[in-house]
Amino acid sequence: MQQKPRVRFAPSPTGPLHIGGVRTALYNYLFARQRGGSFILRIEDTDTTRFVPGTEEYIQETFDWLGLPFDESPRQGGKYGPYKQSQRKEIYKEHVHQLLEKGAAYIAFDTPEELEAQRAAKENFQYDASTRMQMRNSLTMKKEETDSLIQGKTQYVVRIKIEPGRDIVVHDLIRGDVVINSSVLDDKVIYKSADELPTYHLANVVDDHLMEITHVIRGEEWLPSAPLHVWLYQSLGWEESMPRFAHLPLLLKPEGNGKLSKRDGDRLGFPVFPLEWRDPLSGERSTGYRESGYLPEAVINFLAFLGWNPGTEQELFTLAELTAAFSFERCSKSGARFDLEKAKWYNHRYILSMPNSLLADSFTDELRQRGIDAPKETVSRVVELVKERIHFAHELWEQSSYFFEAPLSYEEKTVRKRWKEETPAQMNELASLIETMDDFSAAIQEKTVMEWIQHNGYHTGNVMNAFRLAVVGAGKGPHMFQITELIGKRETIRRLRQAVQRLA
Ligand code: GLU
Repeated sequence: MQQKPRVRFAPSPTGPLHIGGVRTALYNYLFARQRGGSFILRIEDTDTTRFVPGTEEYIQETFDWLGLPFDESPRQGGKYGPYKQSQRKEIYKEHVHQLLEKGAAYIAFDTPEELEAQRAAKENFQYDASTRMQMRNSLTMKKEETDSLIQGKTQYVVRIKIEPGRDIVVHDLIRGDVVINSSVLDDKVIYKSADELPTYHLANVVDDHLMEITHVIRGEEWLPSAPLHVWLYQSLGWEESMPRFAHLPLLLKPEGNGKLSKRDGDRLGFPVFPLEWRDPLSGERSTGYRESGYLPEAVINFLAFLGWNPGTEQELFTLAELTAAFSFERCSKSGARFDLEKAKWYNHRYILSMPNSLLADSFTDELRQRGIDAPKETVSRVVELVKERIHFAHELWEQSSYFFEAPLSYEEKTVRKRWKEETPAQMNELASLIETMDDFSAAIQEKTVMEWIQHNGYHTGNVMNAFRLAVVGAGKGPHMFQITELIGKRETIRRLRQAVQRLA
């Protein structure tokens, strides 16, 4: 029987989640759900210098909004908790101790100044097998000396001891086996006495093991750390239960060169955060997908395609369909270019698939705020007529205001093009024709008006465009007679006469 996967999303609370982080979480979710496994949220907050308040709540709110629930998390707990690394200090200390006992790690007293001096003296200085014996650490100092320094409260760090010349293999489900020689690695700091906290690397590995994580699915930026993580697994004697890795391709700028950044979002006008974020220090606000009018379903569908494809033409996927279709075999190794038009297209498609009544509900509220009280059926019908033209629900008003109020002005370029010398007379005639109509359904209107145009030998395009200008105020909108049917006979006549007067 296949083991049920346990995967984790492990953000550091150093600021709002980047949209790339959301994609990482989504792939974890899809993989876990597909195989009946568990999707875990772990907060990696051991770097106290980079902690930004409010981030954890922000992360949780993001996944509530998207509808991607965790099975275990700081909020709901679980049997592998605590799920916040700052609450697991003792656990890490124990493992640091084990590594020291085994001789797989050592204590180092070099001060930042001493390290700086080394870097200045030697180009490409690296704390490793080639240099460690010239440094101030428990390998070069007598035990009594080390002990007395620690007792005297001298600050120290613990470094992992990387033996050179060994091949380290990272089994990656997207990239295959990635082999790195240990000689290129340095003796990374895994623990600092100053705050009694481990660094990211140790805490990450210890927790993945203790939480019985089977697959580490994360962004490509963590691939360089993976050999060290494998080394730590081996040093701790956990080789047998080492998780499989999957390093997801980078999200690239829309132009395709370089990593997608917040600055690209500001420059090109798209959100890089799932939800609005207010920086607690600067007070600066950055918009989010939610506040920009994206639907969670659209964001999920869009993100799923940034680095994965189903191998078919199908582009619209429900979460359940994504869960069934997802596979690492179909993830790309190369970066995924961010495509804003595609994001908008997805939202458009999800807006189209929403029931009109649902869109009408929120639009009715918006109208009320604008002082317009329209019956729900009318609003539903308006939504039906214009939703083809919008990407976001907040564009409804812009695309349909003329259904609720007569145009206050007339688009200049359309006036120049469509309002001709003979137009006022024709519009007056049209108003009189409409007066005579008892049945104001779109079909009858169309028949009557077309007959009138033909009978008089008028130019259909000119007449209909002027008619539209009078009613809508611009050259846009759905089928003309559907608009007039909805606004009614009286209002149509009124707008025709008003345009004749105003455009005189
Ligand atoms: N804390 C790391 C981050 O912020 C976790 C990387 C990983 O998933 O191992 O993304």
